[in-house]
Amino acid sequence: MGTFACRCGYIIRDNDYPCPLTGQLKWQTETESESEERNSDVKDFLAALENESDKDWVKNYFAGRYFELYPDQITIGDVIEDIASRASNKDGRCVYRCPECERIYIQREFYTDDWTCYEKVE
Ligand SMILES: [Zn+2]
Repeated sequence: MGTFACRCGYIIRDNDYPCPLTGQLKWQTETESESEERNSDVKDFLAALENESDKDWVKNYFAGRYFELYPDQITIGDVIEDIASRASNKDGRCVYRCPECERIYIQREFYTDDWTCYEKVE
């Protein structure tokens, strides 16, 4: 995102990854569907490897020219990591925490700029 302005005036900068002030919130329904999708896609890929149709599988699954690098520069391990990464980036919402006032901001929907602010109660 770049920067996020807290109501107290503190500017949260998340240019560097991983950022200790930024996270992701997922409900169990989302982590469960993510897990099912990831496991199913990994099983499909492993079946394609057994059938020696893995190059076609990679071409159909990933966007862009990713498949041109497989399997010479992109390994089987890379494909499995990228399947997992794709599933984990599908749902959830971003969370920011302000180190000054301890407010927490939770994105209402993934890929939007609509936030709910929670303040610490003493
Ligand atoms: Zn703040």
